Amino acid sequence: MKCPRCGSFVREEAGYYICKNCFIMKKEVYGTTLTERERRELILYGETPLITRFIGRNGERFHGYLCKVGEHIVLRFPSMKR
Ligand SMILES: [Zn+2]
Repeated sequence: MKCPRCGSFVREEAGYYICKNCFIMKKEVYGTTLTERERRELILYGETPLITRFIGRNGERFHGYLCKVGEHIVLRFPSMKR
C-alpha cells in the first residue's frame, strides 16, 4: 500500500499502518477496520466520513468520525463537529 498523500510506502507493523511522513494508524479501531475509502479520506482530508459501525467497550454501537491530529488519529463524535 502507498500513502495517498505523499506516495511513500506504508509499513504494516504490530497492528498499525505507518507512513513515515504522515501518520500512524491502528488497523483496528473501536471494533472495526477502515475501508480503503475511509482510510484515503482520513489521510487526504484529515477526516473520515461518518462511520456508523464502531463498537464501544460495553458492546454498544456508536457513530463517529476519525480525525487526524498531527500524526495521530482521534475519535470525534457527531455532536462535537464544528
Ligand atoms: Zn505519507
